[in-house]
Amino acid sequence: MSHTKSYEFLLNDISTLKGVGKKTKQLLRKKNIKTLFDILWHLPQAFTDRSNLVKANKLEIGKICTIKVQVLKHNIPRIRNLPNTVKCEDATGKLDIVFFNSREGYIKKILPINKWVIISGKVNFYNKKYQITNPDYIVPLDKEEFVKKVIPKYSLTEGITEKIYRNIIEQVLRKLPSIPEWHNQNILKYFNNKSWKESILHLHNHKNKNNLRSNFFKRLVYDEILSHFLVLSQLRIKIKKIKKIKKVFNNKLEKILTKNFNFFLTKNQIEIIKEINKDLSSHSKMFRLLQGDVGSGKTIVSLIAAANVAEAGYKVAFMAPTEILSNQHYLLAKKIFKGTNVGIELLTGKSLSVDKKKIISLLKKKNSIILFGTHALFQKKIEYNNLGLIVIDEQHKFGVKQRMELSNKGGDNCDILVMSATPIPRTLIMTIYGDMDVSKITEKPSYRKKIKTFSKPEFKLNEVINFIKTEINNNNQVFWVCPLIEESKILNYEAAVKKYDFLKNLFPKKVGLIHGSLQKEEKDDVLKKFLLNKIQILVSTTVIEVGIDFPNANVIVIENSNKFGLSQLHQLRGRVGRSNRQGTCILLYKKGLSENAKKRINILKSTNNGFEIAEEDMKLRGFGDMLGYKQSGIKDFKLADPVHHEDLFELVKQNIKQIENNIAIEQKYEPLLKLYDQADIINEINS
Ligand code: ADP
Ligand code: MG
Repeated sequence: MSHTKSYEFLLNDISTLKGVGKKTKQLLRKKNIKTLFDILWHLPQAFTDRSNLVKANKLEIGKICTIKVQVLKHNIPRIRNLPNTVKCEDATGKLDIVFFNSREGYIKKILPINKWVIISGKVNFYNKKYQITNPDYIVPLDKEEFVKKVIPKYSLTEGITEKIYRNIIEQVLRKLPSIPEWHNQNILKYFNNKSWKESILHLHNHKNKNNLRSNFFKRLVYDEILSHFLVLSQLRIKIKKIKKIKKVFNNKLEKILTKNFNFFLTKNQIEIIKEINKDLSSHSKMFRLLQGDVGSGKTIVSLIAAANVAEAGYKVAFMAPTEILSNQHYLLAKKIFKGTNVGIELLTGKSLSVDKKKIISLLKKKNSIILFGTHALFQKKIEYNNLGLIVIDEQHKFGVKQRMELSNKGGDNCDILVMSATPIPRTLIMTIYGDMDVSKITEKPSYRKKIKTFSKPEFKLNEVINFIKTEINNNNQVFWVCPLIEESKILNYEAAVKKYDFLKNLFPKKVGLIHGSLQKEEKDDVLKKFLLNKIQILVSTTVIEVGIDFPNANVIVIENSNKFGLSQLHQLRGRVGRSNRQGTCILLYKKGLSENAKKRINILKSTNNGFEIAEEDMKLRGFGDMLGYKQSGIKDFKLADPVHHEDLFELVKQNIKQIENNIAIEQKYEPLLKLYDQADIINEINS
């Protein structure tokens, strides 16, 4: 039986409030405010403090001030477009009150000569005089208390006035329900027993400066993190309960493979292979994320896992996001599985139907096959007899829901390995991947040289061109990246086209171009040419295919580098320096770098470590904007901030262990899960 609980009205649509018509509703939607609950998280950004009266000699330019003055003189010019001015003063100095677009009669009525008034508004300085233009308040002395207030200021959606907004939020706050406490005593003591309701009211109360470390704030942050963790931990528990037939293999193929590449595995790679092998040969289903910086050598690790699964007599589906990447994996596997009896096949959307038929019938047989491909691998028609492992490459964009589906894929006996090159700050791993086991490659192949990173102002383009000439003469290849122009999404590749034309003139027949609005085929074609070294310079917007190994490309030039975030720059830079030759990254910038942009460039110059960079990136701009998280399904923390609340993430991590064995999570945390929109997904997991 479902009956509505008192707090559930917070999930009502915002239009159930007084004063929210169609237009306001639409405007609020733009800010992602749909329910009454949503609006609670838009905290006052600041408070306008009109509570202190200042003297005329203490006015501060640019600030909102409240002042008691006497009216001296009206200055009403008879010329259109000139403002009306009222000269005022107090014992310490003079002040002009300036009115645009107001009638003379009105001005004389509210500001009669010789009268003392209270005026409040933003102070500016013009013609050597202090002014308040179109004041917010002008009241007689006996109304002083009406003005002298502290008013919360919300960051407003265009079109909604502060007054309307405050009216809306006040309606919600007035009706805020008391909800039965969902935390245990031992948790509550961390926040000095502040209740949910108390905390929300505190954060909206103008008397309180919103301190990120106050008990009120911390309590709400804890709630929020917990609601995320609960979902992941439920999913994790569910997956851990799955029993599978353990895979039996003697690492025979693994040994052959290792001989077939022309390098030795790093210690780190060996450890992770051991970890994976342990999972494969256990009775529980593997659900593991392999995280490693670009170029850290994840592919080999996953191919060895595939080899062991094949040796155990199973099939493997190896999925990559693009055709060209699948093809690259396929060709590599062909090479290193040579002389084994494992079938290596490729299936993409482009595969001919004869090939498709052949693959479909191969998959029905009992033999070991590793099938590479794109999403095509999971079409309905493709049925695997005995699928033992799914590998998914370059998937940092899976949300919880997709992972839940993924974990069911292939049936109970099928292990799952997901690979991602997006380094994630330590604090966030549990929040994003709490349902998975995580292996991290932290060590790069030792021969690899640190990519040299330079920054250059654009007017020194000549030096860059000269450098590139030399590189090309030495048989190296160059990426040239032009960022999207965000302001006009349609024109986003214009800069790239221009640069392409420019470089084509300097390097005839050596330059190719890709950008977002090319057809897939055209794009693949250019990429292939670059891969085969038929062209030497590839100009692109940011869409350089993720994951493709261009071992011959050693230089990357990034234009307008100040427009990119740190993690993004690092990802781009990771496209080069994958061989034993020296890689170079040149960051071009226009004059007048901001402090933040300077910091980003310096961090990049100082380290090549993606995990360090991810931490720095998060500190510089908060995690919401960082590469990849937008799609991860958790972008929308309302209050939690992994930089400032690292301890709380830790605390939840510790506590979740005790909580997760409590069978009655859905009951105990019902209000929390419902309000924070996690109830449905938990139900789905547990159904
Ligand atoms: P990513 O982790 O980005 O997927 P890849 O698996 O594509 O990286 O590896 C990048 C390059 O490093 C490849 O050319 C690969 O052959 C090479 N590589 C991988 N492991 C090693 C190693 N242990 N020693 C030397 N080179 C390696
Ligand atoms: Mg890769």
